Amino acid sequence: MSPRIDFRSDTVTRPTPAMRDAMLSAQVGDDVFGDDPTVLELQSEAADMLGFEAALFVPSGTQANLIAMMTQCARGEEAILGQQSHAYRWESGGMAVLGSIQPQPLENGHDGTIDLAQVAATIKPDDPHFAHTRLFGLENTIGGKVLPLNYLQAAGALCQRYGLIAHLDGARLMNAAAQTAQTPRTERLSGEPGAPSTTAPDAAAIRAAAKAICAPFDSVSLCLSKGLGAPVGSLLLARREVIARGVRIRKMLGGGMRQVGILAAAGRYALAHHLERLTLDHRNAERLAEGFKALSIRPGALAHRLTVEPAQTNMVFVTVDAVVAPALAAHLQSHGVGCSGFPLVDGSIRQRWVTHLDVDATDVDETLEILAKFSTIAA
Ligand SMILES: *Cc1c(COP(=O)(O)O)cnc(C)c1O
Repeated sequence: MSPRIDFRSDTVTRPTPAMRDAMLSAQVGDDVFGDDPTVLELQSEAADMLGFEAALFVPSGTQANLIAMMTQCARGEEAILGQQSHAYRWESGGMAVLGSIQPQPLENGHDGTIDLAQVAATIKPDDPHFAHTRLFGLENTIGGKVLPLNYLQAAGALCQRYGLIAHLDGARLMNAAAQTAQTPRTERLSGEPGAPSTTAPDAAAIRAAAKAICAPFDSVSLCLSKGLGAPVGSLLLARREVIARGVRIRKMLGGGMRQVGILAAAGRYALAHHLERLTLDHRNAERLAEGFKALSIRPGALAHRLTVEPAQTNMVFVTVDAVVAPALAAHLQSHGVGCSGFPLVDGSIRQRWVTHLDVDATDVDETLEILAKFSTIAA
């Protein structure tokens, strides 16, 4: 059973009634034959929206990243990726196992970027001793953090200069876009006059920001099943010939699906209706982070036992001291509140709280009350 208030991940969202209606009435056909009209529409709409020639609907983000690797790197070639990147760390080593592609991980900085001078220095010379360095991959958002546009552009320029493929794991691309579109105009377009605006960006502004984020990359993967709220599915976007090779790799990986328009309809619905609301998730994450901050300084069991990082898009990371971590976890569980927890070497727990369309401001406030209760009772 999932927790009543579920902050474990934005993958836990369930399709809304309107999304289910769209699924119910979807036109379908056999997509392995290329006959499913809803899949074809989703693919061409997404490609247009993000400025690519073509797109491919696949079962998962893991498969989208793997297809990007296997279509653009040959066996024995290597890909430079972040030490913290999903494709390197959280995908069961698939690129090495299934693609015979060697990962070359580099440290991510605190802001999620990878130092580009170090990337350039890591590209291996053309020498029979070395694997051929073929691809550089970034992730945006990474740990909820948005990579700056000018950094992405510099990364794209570096790839062009050295003949590397540039791949973006944009599982949460739209969260990055909603945040980028929100940045006051005066900061985005330096030198332009006008009062900074903090009003929530509309869907068109988010689509424009997403396109700008994608522009420096040869390929981008995007999850429909996270903050966008679809039950299943990811997209890979790239040049037409890469996507054509991707169809074969998808089949090889067991990802060829039949009347899958029923799922593509959910993805189309998400891209059409769930962009603007991402800003709400970001505000709820801020609300949660502020509440945690207050609890960490107020007298009580949690005083000076929490380290709260500022909210980043839809994520809040809180490190809980080893002394209170087990009791706090039990308290949250008994009140039906779920978050993710990763043990650190000193015994403390790094909690990850993710906001999404199935938690609202009331859930955040109730969670903060439940935490306040722990702070009073356990003190
Ligand atoms: C979730 C995620 C993926 C893919 O996950 P699936 O569960 O395979 O859909 C890839 N990259 C990042 C950064 C993710 O967060």
